[in-house]
Amino acid sequence: MSKRTQIRRLPKKAVNDREIMNQILDTGFVAHVAIVDDKQPYALPVGFARDGDRLLLHGSAASRLFKKLADGKPCCATITIMDGLVMSRSVFESSMHYRCVMVLGEAVELHGDEKMAAFDLIVKAFMPGRELEVRKSTKKELKATTLVALSLDEASVKVSNLDPGDLPEDMDSPLWAGVIPIQHTFGTPRDAADLKPGIPVPGYIAEWTHGRT
Ligand SMILES: Cc1cc2nc3c(=O)[nH]c(=O)nc-3n(C[C@H](O)[C@H](O)[C@H](O)COP(=O)(O)OP(=O)(O)OC[C@H]3O[C@@H](n4cnc5c(N)ncnc54)[C@H](O)[C@@H]3O)c2cc1C
Repeated sequence: MSKRTQIRRLPKKAVNDREIMNQILDTGFVAHVAIVDDKQPYALPVGFARDGDRLLLHGSAASRLFKKLADGKPCCATITIMDGLVMSRSVFESSMHYRCVMVLGEAVELHGDEKMAAFDLIVKAFMPGRELEVRKSTKKELKATTLVALSLDEASVKVSNLDPGDLPEDMDSPLWAGVIPIQHTFGTPRDAADLKPGIPVPGYIAEWTHGRT
């Protein structure tokens, strides 16, 4: 944590627990990564994986975002999991349940064996089991992809999980109040239209639904 990552607005929602941060990062699939180009901020969604105390991000070598990240330009990555809608008795107090991590820093580009290992880790994080059987990237594909790591040293965690916080004067309202949870689950796998006959859905996919809550 740093001065820049100290939560000022609603600090009761700040969480200073590395384990909880890791859980959020291991649950999320998408990081919104912001960079500044010609004084204009751009926040772009990308897939990510956590590797210990850093995030791994990969993208096209031709992407502006990844060029900036590989150059070590300052960036901000935000990972958000929306957990519910808080239905309060007033518009003002209505809100959301969420778990959110924000990371500030400068990424470093990975090369060689480190890049290969990071690729495997990303596949494993997204599709555990797949990394053992999927075709590896060719030299050409590797060249076309930039892989960067962003340290989690400067990060903040904000979690919103409270009941509606209505004002005393609204408590006699006849309106229903409560929380509508949002769940993130995988659906039933669907064969690709061009899948050769007789190829079953891999068994490991059945286990995924339990993994990311
Ligand atoms: C799904 C979702 C929906 C939200 N909807 C709204 C909304 O509609 N309106 C609204 O005002 N706010 C909303 N928030 C909260 C919002 O993200 C900010 O926390 C809030 O607006 C305060 O902003 P600030 O610039 O005053 O933060 P400050 O507290 O001044 O930020 C200081 C530091 O705290 C950390 N920080 C701030 N917010 C977060 C965060 N969300 N997660 C992790 N670290 C954080 C950062 O490191 C930041 O640099 C939402 C958050 C989530 C996750």
